[in-house]
Amino acid sequence: MLSVSNSEPVGFAHWMNAKGNANELYPNRLVYSKFLQETYQDIARSGLLEIEEFHETVQVVTAQTPGYQLRSESGKTVTAHKIMLCLGSLHGTNFRQLSEQPGFIDHHTKFSKVKGGPVLVAGSGLTAVDVFRSLNQGKNNEIHLFSRQGFAPTCLTKENRYIPVVLNWTTLLKEQNGSVRLQYFLKTLKQECKRLPDGGERIPAMQILREHRPAQYFEYLMERSQAADLPYQDILVSTRPYMHKLWRSMPIEDRISFNINYGAGWAAWRHPIPYEVIAELAAAAREQRLHIHQGKNSPYWENGQFVLETTSGKTIRAQNLVDGTGGTNRLDLIDSPLLRNLTEQQLIEAHPCGGIDIHPLTFQCQVNGKPVPGLYSLGPLNKGSLFSTNAFWFNARCAGHWARQWAIEMTKKNSVGI
Ligand SMILES: Cc1cc2nc3c(=O)[nH]c(=O)nc-3n(C[C@H](O)[C@H](O)[C@H](O)COP(=O)(O)OP(=O)(O)OC[C@H]3O[C@@H](n4cnc5c(N)ncnc54)[C@H](O)[C@@H]3O)c2cc1C
Repeated sequence: MLSVSNSEPVGFAHWMNAKGNANELYPNRLVYSKFLQETYQDIARSGLLEIEEFHETVQVVTAQTPGYQLRSESGKTVTAHKIMLCLGSLHGTNFRQLSEQPGFIDHHTKFSKVKGGPVLVAGSGLTAVDVFRSLNQGKNNEIHLFSRQGFAPTCLTKENRYIPVVLNWTTLLKEQNGSVRLQYFLKTLKQECKRLPDGGERIPAMQILREHRPAQYFEYLMERSQAADLPYQDILVSTRPYMHKLWRSMPIEDRISFNINYGAGWAAWRHPIPYEVIAELAAAAREQRLHIHQGKNSPYWENGQFVLETTSGKTIRAQNLVDGTGGTNRLDLIDSPLLRNLTEQQLIEAHPCGGIDIHPLTFQCQVNGKPVPGLYSLGPLNKGSLFSTNAFWFNARCAGHWARQWAIEMTKKNSVGI
């Protein structure tokens, strides 16, 4: 699913094949960046597009007629008719009270500063797993993974075998006349789970986790993964092609409720991680180097240490707290001069579910529901509007749609000119 273009859906697999890496199931991000780099270079060299690159950080965008002027940190200016913001996953911290304390870490470049001993790691998703893997290299840390709801990473199945009978896009639409309510989606998901012989893997796995047996939790999921018997995962994965449509069709209050009440569980169970990585987590848990907790409340700072009280009555003290939550996408908490500048000029506005408010079909920024001429956004900052923006395939598809729209518009303009 990591192709750059719609017209070459297996482009990445072909590239891996050509490089002699066809058997590598989980290539790392450096390999992937090489693929992106080569793909881009091929396009640039082809001469099909006229590309001019500016390696600068944009700080200010000023509206002018027509279009905009962009000014970079170093004072360089560029004018443009249209702007597409592709700023990636800019985010703010979830630990504003603690982020200035010594030992607080929110970037992978600072992991090497973590000394041996207990470390608190916030989060239960992919970023927290990334943090765990870095800290686990030295094997001299006692890693305490914690989150508000106490979820833990789940294991990718060998094969998606279960095909949902009740939960699918057609059923959801048929019953709801175009606007699907969250409660109806959850009811249908429950009905689907009831059809599974043992209710699926989630309930027994969570029971083991709540008994504070993390090694057994990972081993249980690994065993079922080897047997391709993770039907709950299969059900959630089956929503991939329509989840962004479901998101759009739900009223805002349902989307906010989903984020607050189900976001963490969805992240853990819908985004499973490779077997080999789960095996690393299981080994660390067996050796008592990895512990998983549900926080009673937010961690605090006391006598030069970070302190976490857990729902099981434990108190953990550590010199380091690593933010592995992926941060918040609330616009007012993101520390970006460009986003601040755009907000102040009312060229962008926060979406109630996070990030920038855009029109979901045109990706055009909107303020008070009105489109902002010539200003667009793609990628993770559109999560509140589009939901699926942490998947590369989805962002690539949105980019393709926008480019097509733009090409049609340009063609019309040019033919009027003729
Ligand atoms: C830990 C992690 C794991 C992931 N794993 C997967 C995965 O396995 N599969 C998958 O499909 N997706 C994965 N993703 C998501 C994927 O990385 C994103 O969907 C994708 O990178 C988004 O691409 P983008 O071009 O929108 O943003 P990015 O690739 O983040 O690029 C944004 C660029 O904008 C630049 N920028 C920001 N502000 C300015 C400014 N003011 N001026 C100039 N430039 C600026 C940044 O420096 C950056 O270069 C993962 C993400 C994370 C964080």
